[in-house]
Amino acid sequence: AKSAGKNQVVVFDGELRAARMRQTRIATGLRRALARGEFALHYQPVVDLATGDIRSVEALLRWIPEGGEPVRPDVFIPVAEETGLIVEIGLWVLEQACADARRWHESHGITVAVNVSGRQLRDETFSDAVLAMLDRHELPERALTLEITESMLLATTQVETTRIVEVLTRLREHGVRIALDDFGTGYSSLSYLRALPVDVLKIDRSFTTPLTEADHQRTRAFTRAIVELSASLGLSTIVEGVETREQADVLRQMGSPLGQGYLFSRPVTAERIDDLLLVAPWK
Ligand code: C2E
Ligand code: CA
Ligand code: CA
Ligand code: CA
Repeated sequence: AKSAGKNQVVVFDGELRAARMRQTRIATGLRRALARGEFALHYQPVVDLATGDIRSVEALLRWIPEGGEPVRPDVFIPVAEETGLIVEIGLWVLEQACADARRWHESHGITVAVNVSGRQLRDETFSDAVLAMLDRHELPERALTLEITESMLLATTQVETTRIVEVLTRLREHGVRIALDDFGTGYSSLSYLRALPVDVLKIDRSFTTPLTEADHQRTRAFTRAIVELSASLGLSTIVEGVETREQADVLRQMGSPLGQGYLFSRPVTAERIDDLLLVAPWK
């Protein structure tokens, strides 16, 4: 038993070391990625479920290291957050998204949503940088939505949380919109909804997937309740992960105005969004 215990420790140690080396490799790659131009933004349309019109797009970061395979955001974003690199990368994302969104906003009134991490919001210069960027690109403040998650606040202290709420409030006073992302997945979604200044609720796709399965009355009741709660708070609601017509139909009947998911489009290049604004194949 003793030796087995020892082996376990060795295995655990080895795994831990492998994981740490992987982290370090990703961090090293990320440090060079901006200079090498290895990042790209893809955009996914948010669609009016009644008319099929595109109402906004969400910017999603892609990283393809030189001579390598694309790395998934779920893998590199946490490393970028831990190392603080997300501050610089996040500014690049905002800059690129504002540049692309300007023509979509001018031609179709489309707004753009950008995901931001808690680490970015805690940076002293963040709100000034965002407002200056909007000015530079001549994009009205209301054409930008920042997507935040409640998990973003989990690791923060009370002082940091207060600071984040201040930053969000300031940006919101200037017209920038705030979306609470992945809603319904955390342990205290409702208290975050009460505490945070938000304009948009994005219902997580874990509520969408089982929506049309026969034995999921409970999921349907939850989804309907969140849609109604969101409406009665005067928020706009986006349901994520809409993959089938049936799901879109059920959601529309529940009174959910907006959906996002593979049924309409996967995240695509900016050029492809130009095409989709002219002809939407799902219509
Ligand atoms: P998210 O913000 O919840 O983004 C939605 C994710 O769901 C995207 O994954 C998208 O491709 C995927 N998705 C969209 N529609 C469907 C669908 O119908 N079915 C399924 N199964 N999936 C769908 P992606 O692009 O891999 O991004 C993963 C996460 O990485 C994002 O989740 C977000 O938290 C983070 N992320 C992406 N870009 C950025 C960024 O620029 N900054 C920060 N801080 N985080 C980012
Ligand atoms: Ca998001
Ligand atoms: Ca302005
Ligand atoms: Ca989400």
